[in-house]
Amino acid sequence: MTTDDPRAELASLAASLRVYLEWHQESGTIGFARRPRPETAAAEVAPAASAQVVETPPAAAKDAAPGTANDPPPAAAKDAPPAAEARHTRLPLLAAEVASCTRCALAPTRTQTVFARGNPDAALVFVGEGPGADEDAQGLPFVGRAGQLLDRMIAAMGLSPERDVYVCNIVKCRPPGNRKPEPEEIAACMPYLQEQLALVHPRVIVALGNTAVAALLDTKLGITKVRGQWKLYRGQTLVMPTYHPSYLLRPSPQQIEAKREAWQDLQLVMKELGLAAPAPTPRS
Ligand code: SF4
Repeated sequence: MTTDDPRAELASLAASLRVYLEWHQESGTIGFARRPRPETAAAEVAPAASAQVVETPPAAAKDAAPGTANDPPPAAAKDAPPAAEARHTRLPLLAAEVASCTRCALAPTRTQTVFARGNPDAALVFVGEGPGADEDAQGLPFVGRAGQLLDRMIAAMGLSPERDVYVCNIVKCRPPGNRKPEPEEIAACMPYLQEQLALVHPRVIVALGNTAVAALLDTKLGITKVRGQWKLYRGQTLVMPTYHPSYLLRPSPQQIEAKREAWQDLQLVMKELGLAAPAPTPRS
């Protein structure tokens, strides 16, 4: 962000540095990213092409190569990205459709639907499970404690949560009592996410937690089995599975290690996107 007011700019820089340091403190890592990253890395400009929404995943998506932590699996030729104009025209219409949706049992108990936040032109998308109480109240994903942690993780990558990433969920309505969404609720809501992802056309998706991993990758493997390994969504788009921020917030010795692992996963994403590589050093 640039501004004519040097004090405002300094305050903004200090805020960014603070969230960066807070995440590294929480994740047990130290080290500074060599900013700035290339402008094009996280917010690519889509070339003009007709919008193409894939409704049915190709078989390759289900059988995506397992990949390794360092080597993304080979992806099939990607569908042409939608024109930015189509993206910006269709996404608000899709959000409006979602706002009046009654396809599943979550509709009667929601306060409002929760579609997305961030930049739909971003090359990096985070997908979580579903709205909680704060999100249901505000109509935006990841605005509670887990969302604040996610923003610190994003800032630690040298990115702006508003400018450089797009954030959404598997289901758009809050499951009562913050329970997990049922399979039929996920199945009812997935077409919205599929169209969202086709329109945003990210280079990388970060799947946060078990529900996002299972729905995007059609796998029963738990997050501890797949985190840190590149996968493919619909055989085309790279997916990095990692822990959900709400899991990382639970105070226990496992969570300290999980935060380090989550940071390792995000570093792989940074490498793939050509972002400046930080050199975090584990404390122990
Ligand atoms: Fe519709 Fe999805 Fe909400 Fe269910 S969760 S009512 S499918 S928007």
